[in-house]
Amino acid sequence: MIRYSLICENGHEFDGWFGRADAFEAQVAAGEVSCPHCGSTALTKALMTPAVGGPRHGEETGAGDETPVPALAETAEGPPAEVLSAIRELKRQLVASADYVGDHFAEEARRIHYDEAPARGIYGEATAEEARGLIEEGIEFHPLPILPDERN
Ligand SMILES: [Zn+2]
Repeated sequence: MIRYSLICENGHEFDGWFGRADAFEAQVAAGEVSCPHCGSTALTKALMTPAVGGPRHGEETGAGDETPVPALAETAEGPPAEVLSAIRELKRQLVASADYVGDHFAEEARRIHYDEAPARGIYGEATAEEARGLIEEGIEFHPLPILPDERN
């Protein structure tokens, strides 16, 4: 027996077993083979990928003999260490040259913008609403990146 992966005109994939290689062509031409999903007899052979290497061992267990679903490698480990340390250094310099104003950031940024306070670098906390207000007034500020080791 020879196994072919088949695809119907509607994109359904399924396996078909044939006694001989030329039996496939003959049976399909005669309309004797149909898609188990939609009954279509317009079938083509799917490309067979060689079962070489890879972590798939379905053949040994007899299970998992279906088309393997490609798994995306998830790298949920955050930015690489070099990037992190660059950000950390940037933030350190920023913080060292600026005044901490706590949750008065929006207020203080506004006072500096309107020359009501001496121009200087400041940093602190602002609510989303305060930040939106600053943007609307054309007051420049940059959100400080929160580093992974500062979340706790
Ligand atoms: Zn089909």
